[in-house]
Amino acid sequence: MDEALRQARKAAAKGEVPVGAVLVVGDRIVAKAHNQVEELKDATAHAEMLAVTTAAGETGEWRLKEATVYVTKEPCPMCAGAMALSRVKRVVYGAADPKMGAAEGSDGVCDEGAVPDVCRGDGVVAGEAGGVRGGRPEDGGGGRCVEPAAV
Ligand SMILES: [Zn+2]
Repeated sequence: MDEALRQARKAAAKGEVPVGAVLVVGDRIVAKAHNQVEELKDATAHAEMLAVTTAAGETGEWRLKEATVYVTKEPCPMCAGAMALSRVKRVVYGAADPKMGAAEGSDGVCDEGAVPDVCRGDGVVAGEAGGVRGGRPEDGGGGRCVEPAAV
């Protein structure tokens, strides 16, 4: 999650919504990405989407059955769906996103068991972690990030 937070800070430095994601297989980081919606002028350029696409390119395999994705914010329905279709085994996210989140939010994508294991990390890390916020400041989101204890 530390690397995901670093990625989120990269996004923040570029004026993007500060979200970072890291895709790990075993002990190896296969892909890391940050939001690039503004930079790429692409509404789908969320950190998780970019990490999944990069990982597929790196491994030559679209099925990422052994992958864990660490993402600083609860995935949106698009990213949750992409990770489900990619057969990602586990998703660990930091801050909840009550507005767009697909795990705790109302969408329910993650509730259907599409991704076998979706969990929110343990151990609260204060929102001052590099100024990385869990959501758009104008939405009042964020100010808190959560890291998994076992990463
Ligand atoms: Zn997303």
